[in-house]
Amino acid sequence: MLVGVLALQGDIEEHRAALGDLGVESRPVRRADDLAGLDGIVLPGGESTTMSMLLESSGIADRLGKELASGLPAFGTCAGMILLASKILDGRPDQVCLQAIELVVRRNAFGRQVESFESELSVVGLEGGPMHAVFIRAPVVEEAGPDVEVLASVALGRGAGDDSLRPVVCRQGRVIVAAFHPELAGDGRLHKMLLDQVELEGD
Ligand code: GLN
Repeated sequence: MLVGVLALQGDIEEHRAALGDLGVESRPVRRADDLAGLDGIVLPGGESTTMSMLLESSGIADRLGKELASGLPAFGTCAGMILLASKILDGRPDQVCLQAIELVVRRNAFGRQVESFESELSVVGLEGGPMHAVFIRAPVVEEAGPDVEVLASVALGRGAGDDSLRPVVCRQGRVIVAAFHPELAGDGRLHKMLLDQVELEGD
């Protein structure tokens, strides 16, 4: 099994370490050709507008969009989740939107907690207790399509004048996203969920 980690910007090494801890080989994806032969891909946290520009200039955007449309399993955290969404609010007008999961996301929208907060999250389908979730300028899900499974949610926060629960871990078939950074907390359980999906595809 070979899993790519989009390696244009962001916390690339942390994701590669999480995959390594699960005994899986990873390849940094810096050019479109690096997508050849991958069984899955991880899109890291970082800055989605910067990654977006680099996705275009490297020629990866088009090819990755096609690979995702033809079923490449993917896991995106924070900025990676933004890139995989179907619509981005408060992004750059020309921001790349790979449309791999039916989510409308708003960048940097967790109210007064906009910079950073942490939470213990129960995630549907994960054994081993709650996940320690580190949110850093995280996106908020404004809408989720009918085929999106919401695996965990948190309250938006009073700073935003709204205490509604918002999805922070979602899945639509082969695509898994988290609004936070399990890779920074050394928790590989969502990476494992991606690998299980890749194994299923191989059967
Ligand atoms: N706010 C960042 C963005 O819009 C995401 C932050 C992160 O990945 N920690 O891309």
